Amino acid sequence: MCGIIGCVGREDTLDTLVHGLSKLEYRGYDSAGVALSEAGDDEADGSAESEGSLDVVKCAGKIDDLRTALEGRETSGPVGVGHTRWSTHGPPTDANAHPHVDCTGQVAVVHNGIIENYQALRDELSTAGHEFRSDTDTEVVPHLVEAGLREGLDMEEAVREAIARLEGSYAIAVVVAGEETVFAARNDSPLVLGVDDDATYLASDVPAFRDFTDRVVYLADGEFARLDAAGWTVTDAAGEVVDKDVETVDWDPEETGKSGYDHFMLKEIHEQPRALRQCLRGRVDELGGAVDIGDLGDLSPTGVQFVAAGTSYHAALYAARLFREAGVPAQAFLASEYATGVPPIGDALVVGVTQSGETADTLSAMREASRRGARTLAVTNTVGSTAAREADHTLYIRAGPEIGVAATKTFASQLAALNLLSLATAESGGRDVVAALRDLPGDVQTLLDDSGAAEVAAEFVDAGAYFFIGRGYHYPVALEGALKMKEITYKHAEGFAAGELKHGPLALVTEDTPVFAVVTGDDELATKTVGNVKEVEARDAPVVAVTDGQSDVERYADHVLELPETHRRAASVLANVQLQLVSYHVANELGRSIDKPRNLAKSVTVE
Ligand code: GLU
Repeated sequence: MCGIIGCVGREDTLDTLVHGLSKLEYRGYDSAGVALSEAGDDEADGSAESEGSLDVVKCAGKIDDLRTALEGRETSGPVGVGHTRWSTHGPPTDANAHPHVDCTGQVAVVHNGIIENYQALRDELSTAGHEFRSDTDTEVVPHLVEAGLREGLDMEEAVREAIARLEGSYAIAVVVAGEETVFAARNDSPLVLGVDDDATYLASDVPAFRDFTDRVVYLADGEFARLDAAGWTVTDAAGEVVDKDVETVDWDPEETGKSGYDHFMLKEIHEQPRALRQCLRGRVDELGGAVDIGDLGDLSPTGVQFVAAGTSYHAALYAARLFREAGVPAQAFLASEYATGVPPIGDALVVGVTQSGETADTLSAMREASRRGARTLAVTNTVGSTAAREADHTLYIRAGPEIGVAATKTFASQLAALNLLSLATAESGGRDVVAALRDLPGDVQTLLDDSGAAEVAAEFVDAGAYFFIGRGYHYPVALEGALKMKEITYKHAEGFAAGELKHGPLALVTEDTPVFAVVTGDDELATKTVGNVKEVEARDAPVVAVTDGQSDVERYADHVLELPETHRRAASVLANVQLQLVSYHVANELGRSIDKPRNLAKSVTVE
């Protein structure tokens, strides 16, 4: 999910790699490393065998820590690869940092993504005598290449065979001792070549080599690249050469980190289909409707208490409803209120929902729950975080790094992961939900392709306040819609349970306060919410219906933000994407500091 850089043909390979990694820092990471290969000759290092050498330096921490680890080392060679890691399998330690090598130390691999079938491959390779030194999914790859080489395959064949065994998402680059070649392949993780007359580069994103060349070749899923002294070739899975276009990029290097988007927040809103796919990958059996989240599936809680803060609290509210609907008593608590005011838990499972895994309020609520003897589960995006280390169990949401302070894709992935948790531990059946989850990434993409949110935002940029209403699973979405608006526009916004409006907040509603109503389906909840919309309309407030068009809410609405039709649980995710976009565009029109709103921090490590 993070960064890869590789290069062939430069004299200053190590500096080029480290420079490239520093340009990829914006993607977020927890460890870094490089591997350089040098042909076997007199200069290698004087050691006897002339097979060439492979030098690997890696560590948990920042690029500066890698620089320190490299100090005084004779790390050189004309080809190399580098990596910034965002841990998914195994905590951020030196041993888990990439590159990973095979038993002989001759094959080095860097990888972004998740190899779903790694456990089966690891078992197979261990049985064949391979020794593993890390907890990562990635490490199976160098061992697979080693196995191929031992069978007598040449290097390219061995790498191809290894890649062919992988299921999941990957951008992979491989170097082998003594070979002045980098091999690379991708599936559902970005990889781009940078080409110049005397050097070729490989990276997850253009900024990594943009200071050296502006000519790029984008690899497609299933393609395989070979970079060597003669230049580069791209082939398909069958080995046929693919005729690739060389494009010239004219972006400002500073902007490229955002892939052409004006803000990280907008980029991350658009990354939601991919984030959701990563979250669901390998955990949902699309045909049978079964859900597999590993050992967590055996938790069978008799009661659940969710503790969380901010956006994660809204995910917790949604999750508590999931469990209640499955017949399991469940409640969501603001983490900061939990430790002092909540009755003893009995044998409840206490679930801390925290994007960073470092949210102080949530950590202290989870610690309090542990003290009272509860089992704890962390639902987080950050492998190796304090929450993950301290909790009895962890469920990763796998959204990838989020740079914008206002949470977007992590909320979508939290909702998806919490659906999986409920399906695996508390619900029976649920095939319709599984089908809706499976379709969710595509549905979000459909919505993003034609949202209409920018026009609505332009209409209401001067509004005095913004109100959001919803019922059931859409109530947390109303709260989240308002929180996003507050965070990035600095304007007054409130979310209400739709039925609660008439018990007080309706007094605030005027023609100057647009009301965003989330209404999906045509069931009783929808009918009741439409009733609340009529109350708003009668007070002359502009109504924006966020709807799949199944009810008659549109009749009472001034504007409609459309949603693809789906299960109501998935509809909450979709509605939230529309509301994220509205807030984003209002904030953008107002010229706000969208990625770093005033007074806010990404990871709130104080109580
Ligand atoms: N799944 C790999 C790991 O945990 C790669 C993570 C990444 O994309 O950085 O090491």
